[in-house]
Amino acid sequence: MTQKLIRGRLLSFKRAPHSLTDTDSYAYESDGALLIVGDRISVAGSYGTVKAIAPEGVEEVDHRPHLILPGFIDMHLHFPQMQVIASYAADLLEWLNTYTFPEECRFVESEHAARIATHFYDELLRHGTTTAAAYCSVHKTSADAFFAEALTRGMCMVGGKVMMDRNAPQGLLDTPEMSYDETRAVIADWHGRGRNHVAITPRFAITSTPGQMKAAQALAQEFPDLHIQTHLSENHDEIRYTMELYPEATDYTDIYAHYGLLGKKTLLGHAIHLSEREADALSEAGAVAVHCPTSNLFLGSGLFPMKSLMRREKPVRVAVATDIGGGSSYSMLRTMDEAYKIQQLLGERLNPLESFYLMTRGNAEALSMADEIGTLEPGTAADLVVLNAASTPAMRLRMETVKTLLEELFLLQTMGDDRTVVETYVAGKAMKGGLAGE
Ligand SMILES: [Zn+2]
Repeated sequence: MTQKLIRGRLLSFKRAPHSLTDTDSYAYESDGALLIVGDRISVAGSYGTVKAIAPEGVEEVDHRPHLILPGFIDMHLHFPQMQVIASYAADLLEWLNTYTFPEECRFVESEHAARIATHFYDELLRHGTTTAAAYCSVHKTSADAFFAEALTRGMCMVGGKVMMDRNAPQGLLDTPEMSYDETRAVIADWHGRGRNHVAITPRFAITSTPGQMKAAQALAQEFPDLHIQTHLSENHDEIRYTMELYPEATDYTDIYAHYGLLGKKTLLGHAIHLSEREADALSEAGAVAVHCPTSNLFLGSGLFPMKSLMRREKPVRVAVATDIGGGSSYSMLRTMDEAYKIQQLLGERLNPLESFYLMTRGNAEALSMADEIGTLEPGTAADLVVLNAASTPAMRLRMETVKTLLEELFLLQTMGDDRTVVETYVAGKAMKGGLAGE
């Protein structure tokens, strides 16, 4: 197996930080190194220690003075929406009907799906994201393209063929039976191949009949280890319409609970406007509310009460994501900048340790995958991002006055973007360059 020593400043979280002064929550090495053996981190520590253990003449990559972190994880985005991002719409439902649904119809063509998949992974890697939980379109062809490209690049990905059988154009509809059969086919073809994980993916209650919800329930019972991803309480009109479609449900969350779709591996996009009862239900089920700040601001959906959900007596598990194409940036750094501002508007503080924890280990824990990704722990996959906090003239100037790691992290989150990402490693391989070309 090939061995490689990667040198730089290392930052990895051990658990969620309780405060800005919680130095026990992370490990930092100002002159650190990782010994990569094959696709795994074998040793992590100070350069001196790791160098002493490494074999004579091992290849060395020197990223000093840059920061090396676990690769970023994006917990919610839509692979078929790369050409929907930056569409001018009043709100969620107009945005879906006018731009998103017509665009997703194109993914029945495998050639189009394959082309966009190439760009999709290039864009993730340019922004330092090494794992994502993504929605494909309703067509199996889109899931095939999504997982085939992940396999080529050796990336750890979660994805699912969307299930939707009403309230969308004909070209985007399946049926309860088709959605069940095709999801099973996607699982058979892709789950466990390379680092691919298939998620059961009913788009949201508006686009699924009760019959299709039952199909999703059957899949969840048959494949209890799989992730389930859907949307919840993003926008007031959406919530109102959902309750008209499911009049017997107590509230929006109750619809998913009723069909057995709320559990520890359930990822609920947005979850902005939850009642106390709904927050309790998420907490009791261990389901994850996935915050998508750039999307929530772009579509005017609302201010996600992240901090108050986290400190409840029954806390809600929270993750963070871009929600491309409702979101406006592929960058998890830009995402956390907007997350910070949303908490500011709510009179809350989101400190930079929390932000960097969330993008890495926090999201890995939300996926129940922290033993594989999201840290620099020996034995985990060598998925890494290398960040330069002086990557633009304005950042370089600001860095002259930065004294502490925390200040540097906050600068990265406030001003950083794809230019900040020096390199992205997937399973030990430098991958930022991409495959699609210009
Ligand atoms: Zn979404």
